[in-house]
Amino acid sequence: MNAKPRGRQFFNNPGPTNIPDRVLRAMDRPVIDFMSDEFMAIHHACHNGVKRVLKTDQNLFMYTSTGHGAWEAALANLFSPGETVLMVETGYFSESWTEMANHLDIKVETIPADQRQGADISRIAERLAADKEHKIKAVLTVHNETATGMVLPLAEVRRAIDEAKHPALLLSDTISSLASMEYKMDAWGIDLTVGGSQKGLMLPTGMSMTGVSNKALEVSRKSKTPRHYWSWEMMTGRAPQKFVGTAPVHMFFGLQESLKMLEEEGLDAVFARHARLADATRAAVRVWGSDGKGPQLFCQNEDRLSNSVTAVVMPEGVSSDPMRKAAVDRFNLSLGGGLGKMMGKMFRIGHMGDLNEPMLLGCLATTELAMKASGVPFVPGGVDAAIKSLSA
Ligand code: PLP
Repeated sequence: MNAKPRGRQFFNNPGPTNIPDRVLRAMDRPVIDFMSDEFMAIHHACHNGVKRVLKTDQNLFMYTSTGHGAWEAALANLFSPGETVLMVETGYFSESWTEMANHLDIKVETIPADQRQGADISRIAERLAADKEHKIKAVLTVHNETATGMVLPLAEVRRAIDEAKHPALLLSDTISSLASMEYKMDAWGIDLTVGGSQKGLMLPTGMSMTGVSNKALEVSRKSKTPRHYWSWEMMTGRAPQKFVGTAPVHMFFGLQESLKMLEEEGLDAVFARHARLADATRAAVRVWGSDGKGPQLFCQNEDRLSNSVTAVVMPEGVSSDPMRKAAVDRFNLSLGGGLGKMMGKMFRIGHMGDLNEPMLLGCLATTELAMKASGVPFVPGGVDAAIKSLSA
């Protein structure tokens, strides 16, 4: 008989993430009418709370959908078939958003990048400067590429657009950076932000949020892409909840609690905690691969390391699958795998959301155990390095 491992599963996937007990308890209550005053008040508080997290005073739309839904909403509301956008290559998620745009008949030009170094921002400026007729309608970015563990400096992207004196909108996916890493929608001049519930917001999967600048809202009035459920115009015209269909009241019960937790800790402290845990994770990985034969950090650009997820490349010829299987089946630790062409070649340690030092150290120690159990070559001592980093 296969007994389930005892104790709580250590969950270090880069999304979904741990749902705090406080959030689970807040959701454990009877349903209420989504047209009631009680729900209106909860919705209003959450709406304002999410805007504070995005750091925007502009518009916000929330969908009962995953991040993919909000991606599609962004494309359908802003662009007409045949229009051109510029996608900055980051990895699996910039490629997936590109594929979706292609399916909507939007032309996508890509700024190619070495995915271990990150895109060269000057290439965005050069491309926009050459676009004298302003055919490019927007620059699309993934702020934190969850597949590679790398961040894109969005303020620099905005500067590149401004220096080229180009009217393109700046769109950003903050799905795996929202409420984990600094994000300043208005100050960085972002016209559209896509976020999801299941990462830094510590909620179940199923709700997405879209911050929209006034400029982008104006542009959306001209889009000829057919839309209904995703239509911002439809949503604006609805009752205060702005949902096309039934509002997901239990997600709001959870969201209200998670926003309360974020505000009690303070967003800056939340970001500092993520940075501390990320530093410790990287310290461990650097030791594991210090002889050049063990696993290595995928990101080779020190300035772009993600604080919410660390992507670790396996040694040449060693699959990450047996190690991840040992971790989850024998030791009850769930780690992320590689995506797309990195499947089997990488594992990813999610360190975002509801996480603290003992949880991270448990994860790192168990990763060492799983590597040992599955014959992955590595230099021991990663956990010691993580402890040193956390106690510095
Ligand atoms: N963008 C990024 C950066 C992601 O990490 C993910 C999911 O992990 C998505 C988009 C897609 O979001 P969803 O799975 O909620 O549709």
